[in-house]
Formats: sequence, C-alpha cells, structure tokens
Amino acid sequence: PAEIFAPRRNSRGWELNDVGELAALDKARAPWRKATWTARAVLTDGLAEGDARKVISPSDPSDIVGTVHEGDAGTAARAAGLAEIWDAPPSERAAALRRAADLYEEAHGEVFALLSREAGKTLPDAVAELREAVDFLRCYADEAERLSGDAPRGVIAAISPWNFPLAIFTGQIAAALAAGNAVIAKPADPTPLIGALGVRLMHRAGVPRSALQFLPGRGRVVGEALTECSRVAGLAFTGSTGTALAIHRRMAEHLDPHALLVAETGGLNAMIVDSTALPEQAVRDAIASAFQSAGQRCSAARILYVQEDVAEDLLKMLKGAMDELSGGDPWDRATDLGPIITETACKHFEDYARRAEAEGRLIHRASSTGSGNHFAPVLIRVAGIADMAEEVFGPVLHVATFPAGGLDAVVDAVNARGFGLTMGLHSRIEAVARRVEARARVGNLYVNRNQIGAIVGSQPFGGEGLSGTGPKAGGPAYLPRFHAPERVQSAE
Ligand code: NAD
Repeated sequence: PAEIFAPRRNSRGWELNDVGELAALDKARAPWRKATWTARAVLTDGLAEGDARKVISPSDPSDIVGTVHEGDAGTAARAAGLAEIWDAPPSERAAALRRAADLYEEAHGEVFALLSREAGKTLPDAVAELREAVDFLRCYADEAERLSGDAPRGVIAAISPWNFPLAIFTGQIAAALAAGNAVIAKPADPTPLIGALGVRLMHRAGVPRSALQFLPGRGRVVGEALTECSRVAGLAFTGSTGTALAIHRRMAEHLDPHALLVAETGGLNAMIVDSTALPEQAVRDAIASAFQSAGQRCSAARILYVQEDVAEDLLKMLKGAMDELSGGDPWDRATDLGPIITETACKHFEDYARRAEAEGRLIHRASSTGSGNHFAPVLIRVAGIADMAEEVFGPVLHVATFPAGGLDAVVDAVNARGFGLTMGLHSRIEAVARRVEARARVGNLYVNRNQIGAIVGSQPFGGEGLSGTGPKAGGPAYLPRFHAPERVQSAE
C-alpha cells in the first residue's frame, strides 16, 4: 500500500528502439570490447591476494575477460572479523546508496560490456539488469529512511547467483546496508568481475569499506566458510534449492539459532494454456518465458501444459517460432540466444536432450547455432510435472497436455511438486484466471503475458515452498527482515 511504501520513480533505462540512443549506447560500450578486469577480495584493511584464475567469456573461449584472485576460508574469516556495522544516520546511508545508483547509470557502457562478455547477456537483458540494480539501490535507500528507527542485525553474508550478477548481487547488498548492517558480498563463481565493479561503485559513492567487503571465491570454499563464522548474523542467499538446503543445515550446526536466512531459490515453473487462449500470444510468451536469457532465469517456464484440443496446432507454431531464434555473440544486437554460462552446464543439457531423444521424447530441437557454449533450445515431452526430477536451468521446455476440465488437476499437480516460484496462465476466461489465482501456490502468477521479469517497488518477486523463504525482493516486507527482531519486553 502507498502509505507504507514510499512512491518513487524507477530508472528510465535505455530506449532500444531509438536509433540515436542505440548509437550512443554502442559508443559507450565500444571501449570495453577488449578490456580486461581484475577482481580480488576487498577487505577493510586492504586487498587480499588469492589463487588467480582467468575468467573466460562463455560465448567465446578465446575472449579472456579478466582475472579473479579467489579467497579461501582464511580470507572469509578475516572479512568476518573486520566487518563493522554501518553506524551512520539512515539519511546518510540512503544518500550514499542513491549516489551509487547514479554511478551505476553513468558506468552503463562498462556495465553492458561486462554483462555481455562475462555473463553472456544480450543487450536487452543487460539493459533490464542494470535498471533493476539501480531500482534496488533507490528503493532500499527510501526504505532506510522510512524504517529509520530500527536496529541492524550485524554482519550479513550476501551470496548471489551468476544469472543476475549485478541486479541480485546489488539488491541483497543494498537492502542489508540500508538497514545498517555490515555486508560481506560473495559473487557467484562465474561472475566475480561484475561484482567487483558494483562494489567499486558503491565504495566510490561513500559506502565505507568496513561496512562492505568483497569476497570472491568458490561457493564450496568461501561460501561454506561464511556459513560457519560465528560473527555472521545472517545470510541473504539466492541460488539453487540444493545449495540453500545445504546452507540451512550448516547454519543450524554453526551459527546462532536466531541467525537470519533469506533464501531465494529455484523453480519448476509451469505455463498453462487452455483452449480459449490466443495462440499467437501464447506462443510468443512461451518463447520469451522459456528461452529468453537462454532459459537461465529462475522465473523461466520449465513445463508447458497445453489443453489437448489445441496442442497440435500450438506446438506446430511453437516449433516454427523456435526456429526463428538466432544464436550468437550476445554483444551482437541480432542475437536472441546468448551462451550457456559454463561448458559443464552446456554438456549437461546435451546429455539431457540425448537421453530424451533415445526415449522418443524429444519433440523438437531449434535450428540455432552459435559460438562458445551454445545450446539450441529443445522441447521434451513428459507426462506431467511429477516426472521432472530437478530444475534444468537452461533452454529446455517440457511439454504435457491435459484434457478439457483438467485444469484444476494440473494446478494441484504443480502444487504437489513443491516448488512455488512463477506460473503463467493463458486463458481468455476471467473466471479461470481467478480460479487459478486462488488455487496456485506460487509467488508470482502471470496471466496472458510472459512470466519472466519483475519490477522493483510495483511487482515484488519471490517464491514459496522449495522456491524460497520470502520475503519478496523489491517489496515492502524485504528490508524489515534485515533489522534485528524487536526485543520481547519482559513482564517485570
Ligand atoms: P548455486 O546454488 O550453484 O550458487 C549460488 C551461490 O551460492 C554462488 O555464489 C555459489 O558460489 C554459492 N555456493 C555454492 N555452494 C555453496 C555452499 N556449499 N555454501 C555456500 N555458498 C555456496 O546457484 P547458481 O548456479 O549460481 O544460480 C542459479 C540458481 O539460482 C538456479 O537454481 C535459479 O533458479 C536460482 N535463482 C533464483 C532466483 C530467485 O529469485 N528465486 C533468482 C536467480 C537465480
């Protein structure tokens, strides 16, 4: 509601249909086409050395984007020991976060180049990502002022994924800082350079080093070490469900029983299309939901349930639309499908598709080609979501059909599988939309549109069940979680 969440303007972004703006944007990112970056731990008392590793672009194995010096358990313990809560008035913290937002926008050429080269993002994806990062900074800056009377928790470890290496990374940090905590920011293993840039800009904006330290390193090394540091008062984690469960177990063993865990995790997201849906729209939205960002979004559609009366025609259109997608270098504006983040993940999808083919379940393979870790999208038949063992985090869309009158059973099957991130529904019957809304246990339901994307402040994002603890990022309940719980007054 407006009275609890301050009205605020989101980032304007960049207009990619404007040729003048596009030309300016190309000019801004051009100097960074061949640049290299270095990331190392940034601690209160200085920079830390570590094992050096080259960061290679997922779209071109000959493109060396930079070098990361990865920390170890000792670096994590040092960071935890040095961390100090940000003891400044909320208005001062808010001002620094707003300055950081401005610096992020000013650095857009470098940001877009790094997002493309290190994380394989197409330009539209990179633009959306920078906007979201900026929106998080300004949103939580406002929240710092709205909730100014509350105390911080202490040291928060922010552990983030590679698929939104700037937006989610920044959002977690900004919320924890806005609430006055100290943050140890751990970027995902494949994307330390973008994280290092974000931290550099936040420091330049006035966030003290003692309140924000940067800790690149392997999840199994520094990530695990952070979940064992007694000084850590909480974790903001976004990543896979399996990692979240492992973290939860370690926290239970090693941290204070009241330590915070905010976990935003994976999903087995369904898109349901009934016989009244507009087929062209359903196909366009299925393509965007399953294959944009090469399917590497937590919100992506993983299973398409189509009412059997319309399935044949719809699948025919879907196959045609898949063959229109062009793979290639994400820097190139004609590219729809960027690379898969690692060669290992790419090989895993190839094996998965091969197994489905051997079992006679491969419905279609798109004709796209591309460099680096390119994977041409596939459609795979399944009986239903109960057959899907795990989240396949790439451009793999499973397809099942349901009979007329079977829609409630589909929603029940999705609920029973236990994940609850996004769901898409295509139907022109309003009562059907209302019924699904009441029945589906998901964080975000999208009706007659694609099911990816969220808008800070107006469309908060987050799941339930195996998909996350809540609260939703970019919503009014998020920041309060980073404050110390109110002390219960004794009756005496
Ligand atoms: P991941 O779980 O492999 O890694 C996430 C982070 O955890 C990384 O920084 C990693 O280094 C760290 N990590 C790994 N093992 C660890 C351990 N044992 N202890 C502590 N930290 C550890 O996930 P990923 O591959 O980086 O990201 C993709 C996943 O993230 C997908 O499952 C996707 O659905 C999910 N995701 C969810 C959301 C959401 O909002 N719900 C958003 C983006 C991504």
